[in-house]
Amino acid sequence: MAVERTLSIIKPDATRRNLTGKINAVIEEAGLRIVAQKRVALTRAQAEGFYAVHKERSFFGELVDFMVSGPVVVQVLEGEDAVLKYREVMGATNPANAEEGTIRKQFAESIEANSVHGSDSLENAAIEIAYFFAQTEIVG
Ligand code: ADP
Ligand code: MG
Repeated sequence: MAVERTLSIIKPDATRRNLTGKINAVIEEAGLRIVAQKRVALTRAQAEGFYAVHKERSFFGELVDFMVSGPVVVQVLEGEDAVLKYREVMGATNPANAEEGTIRKQFAESIEANSVHGSDSLENAAIEIAYFFAQTEIVG
C-alpha cells in the first residue's frame, strides 16, 4: 500500500442538511486526513466539466442541476490506499445498495442526491484534485 490522495466532494444535499461535520468525522475515523478543503458554489460550467465523462448519460442534465443547487465542500483526502479506502467509506452509488456504516447508507437521499463524490482511480484523483486545487492549497 502507498500513501495516496483522492478528491472528495460533499454534495449539495449534504451541505443543505448541515452534515459536513458528521461526514468529516466518518472520513477522519476511517484514518483519512483532510489535507485541503473549501466550500464553493460550483458554476454550471465547472459542474459540467467535472462530470464531462457522464455527458452522454440520461441523468447528466439533472446531475448538473443538482450539483449547482447549493454549496459543495471540495476536499483532498490523504492516506494509505486513499482512493479505494474512500470509495469503501462512501458506499455504493445507490444508497439502497450501500453497506451499513458507509456515508451514503447513513446520509444519502437518493441515487442522485448521494451526499459525496470520491475519485474512482489514482489517475482520475490527480486530474480531479488539479481541477479544484493549486498545489499550494494542499497541506499534508
Ligand atoms: P459514483 O459517484 O459512485 O462514482 P457515478 O460516477 O456512476 O457514481 O455517477 C456520478 C454521479 O451521478 C453519482 O454519484 C450520482 O450523483 C449521479 N448518478 C449516477 N447514476 C445516476 C442515476 N441512475 N440517476 C441519477 N443520478 C445518477
Ligand atoms: Mg464516479
